[in-house]
Amino acid sequence: MKSRAQNILITGGAGYIGSHMVRLLLEQGFKPVVFDNLSTGHKEFIPKGVPLVKGDLRDPAAVRRAFRRYPVSAVVHFAAAIVVPESVAEPLNYYENNVSATVNLLKGMKEAGVRRIVFSSSACVYGNPLKSPILENEPLKIENPYGATKVMVEQILGDLARAGCIDFIALRYFNVAGAHSQGGIGIKMAKPTHLIPNVMRVACGLKKELAVFGDDYPTKDGTCVRDYVHVVDLVEAHLLALRALAKGKVKNEVINLGNGRGFSVKEVIEAAVKVTGRPVPHKVLPRRPGDSVNVVASYAKARRLLGWKPQRGLDTILSSAYQWECAGS
Ligand code: UDP
Repeated sequence: MKSRAQNILITGGAGYIGSHMVRLLLEQGFKPVVFDNLSTGHKEFIPKGVPLVKGDLRDPAAVRRAFRRYPVSAVVHFAAAIVVPESVAEPLNYYENNVSATVNLLKGMKEAGVRRIVFSSSACVYGNPLKSPILENEPLKIENPYGATKVMVEQILGDLARAGCIDFIALRYFNVAGAHSQGGIGIKMAKPTHLIPNVMRVACGLKKELAVFGDDYPTKDGTCVRDYVHVVDLVEAHLLALRALAKGKVKNEVINLGNGRGFSVKEVIEAAVKVTGRPVPHKVLPRRPGDSVNVVASYAKARRLLGWKPQRGLDTILSSAYQWECAGS
């Protein structure tokens, strides 16, 4: 690998969002290099010809070796553990996987002279927000160890930027869903916890019934409201962030990524029935502990700083999720 400019290190590049990023970078003429320990990622998600460094960010030597072997101009850091209840049960794993690992990555970048990083943060840094839509300057609220790791890494990135060591953009994702239109990559979990994969599994008969967790919330129909953003729109924002960092136009910012529209659980079910033409039998169960009531983004900052505007609405999210979840059934 000679020219460093087009080479981008993608941590977690074998995972759901990371693999969509890798495809987009290839389409745009970049040379992605994937760093992944394949604990939750999938080797088959990595296109032929894209180098895979099978390594663990918790291992500083592995990180150092990767930077030595592959000179890169920037890092997009997706690798993380992401299951909130698991973070409550095993906090140390989360601090190691999400915080210590990121510190190792940042040390590796420093040694290799790589300044630019795009980081996957999350709307969970707002806790159970009172305002809707949410702007980036809302106060942060830690509600579980997973959320704490995202707040901590944002803090670390801010400190390093203030010390003049890095240029970063942290992207706060709202509810990411959907899959690539050409297939082959998507959310792959034995037992997904997220709403849309579960709705689709019911629609295609892989699961008998959907559990609706609570219908007594103070929302339009009593079920929780979320802002669903298509994974392809999401990775397009990462590309814009990489380009903005490279130009020095935007740096050291936290930016929301959502569609700016809220849908309740019931609305998602109704839309899924329309899009798929299949019934989605469901029953109401008690509230799931820890769920926020209403989480909707303002993406005005992403639009202003990155020129990003989501192109895909709920129907496209649902039809692509249906294709992915139900391929072959
Ligand atoms: N939800 C549900 N049934 C499911 C999965 C999720 O009713 O099988 C609800 C959940 O209680 C929440 C919303 O759907 O109100 C979105 O949950 P998800 O896990 O997809 O994302 P979160 O916002 O929790 O990260």
